Amino acid sequence: MIYMDYNATTPTDPRVLETIKIYFFEKFGNPSSIYKIARENKKEIEKAREKVAKLIDANPEEIYFTSGGTESDNWAIIGTAFALKHKGNHIITSQIEHHAVLNTCKFLNRIGYEITYAPVDRFGIVDVDFVRKSIKKETILITIMHANNEIGTIEPIEEISKIAKENNIYFHSDCVQTVGKVPVSVKNLGIDMLSLSAHKFYGPKGVGALYVKRGIKIETLIHGGEQEKGKRGGTYNVPGIIGLGKACEIAMEEMIEEMEKVKNLRDKLEKGILEKIPEIVINGHPEKRLYNTLNLCVKYIEGESVLLNLDFEKIYASSGSACTSGSLEPSHVLLACGIPHEIAHGSLRFSLGKYNKEEDIDKVLEVLPRIVEKLRKISPFWEKK
Ligand SMILES: *Cc1c(COP(=O)(O)O)cnc(C)c1O
Repeated sequence: MIYMDYNATTPTDPRVLETIKIYFFEKFGNPSSIYKIARENKKEIEKAREKVAKLIDANPEEIYFTSGGTESDNWAIIGTAFALKHKGNHIITSQIEHHAVLNTCKFLNRIGYEITYAPVDRFGIVDVDFVRKSIKKETILITIMHANNEIGTIEPIEEISKIAKENNIYFHSDCVQTVGKVPVSVKNLGIDMLSLSAHKFYGPKGVGALYVKRGIKIETLIHGGEQEKGKRGGTYNVPGIIGLGKACEIAMEEMIEEMEKVKNLRDKLEKGILEKIPEIVINGHPEKRLYNTLNLCVKYIEGESVLLNLDFEKIYASSGSACTSGSLEPSHVLLACGIPHEIAHGSLRFSLGKYNKEEDIDKVLEVLPRIVEKLRKISPFWEKK
């Protein structure tokens, strides 16, 4: 099989799997207990916390383990909204956030918060001026993602965080697509709260973290035991957390080398597709873009039909759009970039990772033009053009 959907999830690195295996049977103790196998696990969890902190240039005390990116986004946004209710009810985000952010904002809007959605340009870059002008005295939070999962565009986080700081507003960033892929420093980026998720960079699924800068106070979302200083209850996901730590350690050591390798593969794929298939639109920013992501629209046909045909050849990619409940609405991200409906329907996302090989690219470049040609032959739009 050829897997090219790394922005959706990644396979677990075998070294991560090897590290965590022992925590399912021999070392299964609950870290909150007092006997040896529990105390030792607690120590390992603290080591994992240090590794996460190191990867994003934070202090270990500022890292809280969660069940993943979605929970971290929910906690940062709802936690801020509830903690600062006395101060205001206005939140600024963007039109191209992940649904973990968009639907959390939608929930808050239902219970009385006001949300402003900043637009983006045709490359998916957030309108910073719009963000600045949207600020009012009720604004309590700005939440803008670091890189977009569909098109890979990297946002001007430093600029936006500076605006937040000048106005005394909390700044959260969904960094699920960048942590472990590119160097991320919460200090350089000026981030108050950051969401990350292990399964997007070769760690296990169902575990992540929220970074909360010292001094930032947010309300608890998951009430329970005294875990995570009483701020996030629930028995520790020991294998998950230790796996996240291991994934951070590996990323720290190998990231730079991988960036180069994966970028070369992505560029080869992009160039090859443009050479072999006419009427292709590349989405996202030409340079300010994740090095592993290639999002494009194949004009005159449906991205979904291309995917089914690729699937038949055991090539796994995505359309980038969340075609929920069978209603084939094109991606909210592409529409926000101003791509017309009929073109957005033809979207395809190839997101590469460290296990992709040169041969994978060759195979896609051999198979895809044939699929597109076949589908265009039976497309009424292709005929009429
Ligand atoms: C995958 C993803 C999430 C959700 O993370 P989970 O750990 O799967 O809950 C949130 N934001 C972005 C940008 C993502 O790519």
